[in-house]
Amino acid sequence: MSQSDNNDTDSVDSVATQGAPSSRTRVRRIAQRADYDPATLHAILDAAYVCHVAFADAQGVHCIPTACWREGDHLYIHGSNGSRMLKLAAEGAQVCVTVTHIDCLVLARSAFNHSMNYRSAMIYGAFEVVADDHKSAALDAFMEHIAPGRVHEARAGKRNELAATTVLRLPLDEAVAKVRAHGVKDDEEDLDRPVWAGVLPMALQPLAPERDGDLLPDGEPAYVREWARRAAAAGR
Ligand SMILES: Cc1cc2nc3c(=O)[nH]c(=O)nc-3n(C[C@H](O)[C@H](O)[C@H](O)COP(=O)(O)OP(=O)(O)OC[C@H]3O[C@@H](n4cnc5c(N)ncnc54)[C@H](O)[C@@H]3O)c2cc1C
Repeated sequence: MSQSDNNDTDSVDSVATQGAPSSRTRVRRIAQRADYDPATLHAILDAAYVCHVAFADAQGVHCIPTACWREGDHLYIHGSNGSRMLKLAAEGAQVCVTVTHIDCLVLARSAFNHSMNYRSAMIYGAFEVVADDHKSAALDAFMEHIAPGRVHEARAGKRNELAATTVLRLPLDEAVAKVRAHGVKDDEEDLDRPVWAGVLPMALQPLAPERDGDLLPDGEPAYVREWARRAAAAGR
């Protein structure tokens, strides 16, 4: 499917091709899809619940999915102190972190020109350990990312729970976004073929909330009502 990248080189996505923070973040294939604007990077990261962290150790190369959130110019992850990935990352291992959102399947008239619309980000660097005095606030920001306001409702982390948790942050200094956001690009000679062509959009979609336990006197919190509203609006 990605074969279409080979001739999909017009500047349909008019994004910057200059300004890469390093040689390894300079997009070379279909460079007009590169976007080095921090606002684009932040939007892609803020729309994500999960990133993939790639790193190498004596056993080889690994790529591990893990929850993430952004605060300012850092991407945060967290987990058990016992996690192999977190231990290595905390020691300063070099990592490559990616986030990908798929927005459309792009169905062209030729097999070669099929594609996908996507927003993806890649960050290189080394995580740093979030100090104990900021750990609780960082985890609050994670909760805020998942469900705004819930941090005031859920029991706060106990001392031993915080002590068992590692929080790491990765500077967004060496990062790049790549975005495809347009329709079919067929070859001129294929345009008259009697083949359906177009885009099949898709999205990460809320479904109706499922409560655990009895309804509280105050009813559902605002973030659950909003989730339900979005699910209902989409007919789910
Ligand atoms: C959506 C999502 C969110 C997650 N969020 C977090 C988080 O916030 N914090 C956290 O610590 N962990 C999270 N995890 C779990 C994470 O993927 C790892 O399993 C965990 O961090 C342990 O890493 P490790 O290197 O110590 O694993 P180890 O158990 O040491 O890994 C050993 C081997 O097990 C396999 N393996 C490990 N994890 C996975 C996996 N997820 N899928 C398939 N094979 C695997 C791989 O072959 C790996 O090399 C999340 C997973 C998913 C899918």
